[in-house]
Amino acid sequence: MTPTLEMQFKNAYRHILDSQNICIASHVQPDGDNIGSILSLGMALKKLNKNVYLLKTDEIPSDYKFLPNVNLIKDHDNIDEIDIFIALDSSDEERLGKNKDLLTKAKLIINIDHHISNTNFGHINIIDKDASSTGELVYDFIKSMNISIDKDIATCIYTAISSDTGSFMYDNTSAKTHEIAADLIKVGIDKEKININLYQNKSLERTRLFIKAMDNLELYFENKVALAQITQEMLEDCNAKMEDSEGIISFLRGISPVEVAILLKEFKDDEIKVSMRSKRYIDVSKICSVFGGGGHIRAAGCTINESIDKAKTLILNEIKELFR
Ligand code: 5GP
Ligand code: MN
Repeated sequence: MTPTLEMQFKNAYRHILDSQNICIASHVQPDGDNIGSILSLGMALKKLNKNVYLLKTDEIPSDYKFLPNVNLIKDHDNIDEIDIFIALDSSDEERLGKNKDLLTKAKLIINIDHHISNTNFGHINIIDKDASSTGELVYDFIKSMNISIDKDIATCIYTAISSDTGSFMYDNTSAKTHEIAADLIKVGIDKEKININLYQNKSLERTRLFIKAMDNLELYFENKVALAQITQEMLEDCNAKMEDSEGIISFLRGISPVEVAILLKEFKDDEIKVSMRSKRYIDVSKICSVFGGGGHIRAAGCTINESIDKAKTLILNEIKELFR
């Protein structure tokens, strides 16, 4: 941990010790890093005898329902006083969805994240773009507070890190990432159970959706760009949910000549969620920021309020300069 990070964690800890009611919020369409981070930090702060509220923003995808205490992430109406609001893995206030309004109610906002595009919307901003995942930062935070990492906490941190590193494969995986993973394994987590739940648990509906998406795969710019889409009609045909599109984008990037993978998800007729991944040299966070989104250099996203065809044209227009 760098000295600056360590000081920031100490500062956050000081405020936590002085507080009672702490909210930890998930972000819209939460992923494994987000859910694992919320649960692990929540369990840790409960050990300090704090009132911890884990706020649900969107539904928890079924992949993560195996996590310990996942049911604690729920809607909490009427929280009278919020001493501290902790945002995890959320690069801007919009990512907090319906819980964004609580920011004004909170006496203190702690913002812990690893997105390069984070807007520093907290009072205390602990942003490390070199961390593989927010889970990695939460590990450091819990350690710096001297709270013991038990099996449940370790399971959630491991899930967070594994999710955001593509199972320790992406370039964001560092020596430190592996050291943390080793420590979590020593705590006695059930690695097999975690891996089966995360990576070997695909439903038939999800499989059918994958086949359909691949059947309509589009390639552009000498096969350097792969694009797939998930429409509401496809979901209906396959009896699948949008969360079943998980995994498609990384498959697209895995195609040999592909540098940029694009997945368009039609949530509504005029609400298209775009996911982008790159392999070696394109900064997809930059492309997504043109449309008000953001993320990381190799993984980013945005939402375009147009039809899916229009969204596709807009995106392809935006990236064509990069492949001239
Ligand atoms: P995904 O494609 O898995 O939804 O997101 C990839 C990365 O981009 C994640 O790190 C996520 O936080 C970020 N991201 C996705 N959508 C948005 C968005 O609309 N705004 C911002 N700022 N980041 C996003
Ligand atoms: Mn993350």
